[in-house]
Amino acid sequence: MQIAQILQLYPLQLIESSSPRLDVEILLMHALGKNRFFIYAWGEYELKPFEITKFKELFKERLRGKPIAYLIGKREFWSMPFLVNEHTLIPRPETELLVEVALNHLPKNGIVFDMGTGSGCIALAIKKERPDCQVIGVDNSLNSLNIAKQNAHNLNLEIEWIESDWFSKIEIKADIIVSNPPYIAINDRHLMQGDVRFEPQSALVSGKDGLDDLFYLIDKSRDFLNPNGWLFLEHGFDQGFVINSLLKTACYTNINTYQDSNGQERVSGGRFPFV
Ligand code: GLN
Repeated sequence: MQIAQILQLYPLQLIESSSPRLDVEILLMHALGKNRFFIYAWGEYELKPFEITKFKELFKERLRGKPIAYLIGKREFWSMPFLVNEHTLIPRPETELLVEVALNHLPKNGIVFDMGTGSGCIALAIKKERPDCQVIGVDNSLNSLNIAKQNAHNLNLEIEWIESDWFSKIEIKADIIVSNPPYIAINDRHLMQGDVRFEPQSALVSGKDGLDDLFYLIDKSRDFLNPNGWLFLEHGFDQGFVINSLLKTACYTNINTYQDSNGQERVSGGRFPFV
């Protein structure tokens, strides 16, 4: 079978995917160990039997709905490659907003906590831009910390990783706390569709309205922020208002909500004053 034939036939089967052609291209590149240029330039290339087997294995999993990022074991975030697997959430482009907002508030030589760091993408993006800062990535899953550590190694960035259930093992304070915590309601229909079906529930679901962990972080971060330190949280598109009120009730100041590139409210945060 030739590359051109695969590109013609296989996308037709991926009826559930929103990007069938792209999916097949990526799986083909992965199976062949080649870049997109090769795929486009060598349509008449005849796949070797082991390459066909490899491609078909990947394709079968994709037909089952498995996310492309898990099939090829990586995803780009902040223009850097990140290893991912079933233990980590797949980095989303909208989460780059959280990095941007944090960078805009980060003091020189500041200390940053990334709570629930997963693949480490937020912590590593911040460290990449601000090597002067001390960035600490926290997660309660040793499996995701192992991926985060490999990512730090591959990107040649230094982060301190702490295995901890939220703040339970944290003994210092930060100038900025960021988090993309689980924020989906347990009975949200969205959990039965697309990539999220294959992602760790512990990174997605947070109680009956999706607010349990956001609420916890707003409350608890106050004990772990230096005076006038900032907390920034990613949340669902419809949670901005309630997160604002929770921040207000918890006595944060300078509260703001930020919209992602789709115009959805995606990040909120504020400053905890010296008391
Ligand atoms: N943004 C993700 C989604 O809606 C959820 C990520 C999260 O819960 N932190 O698929």
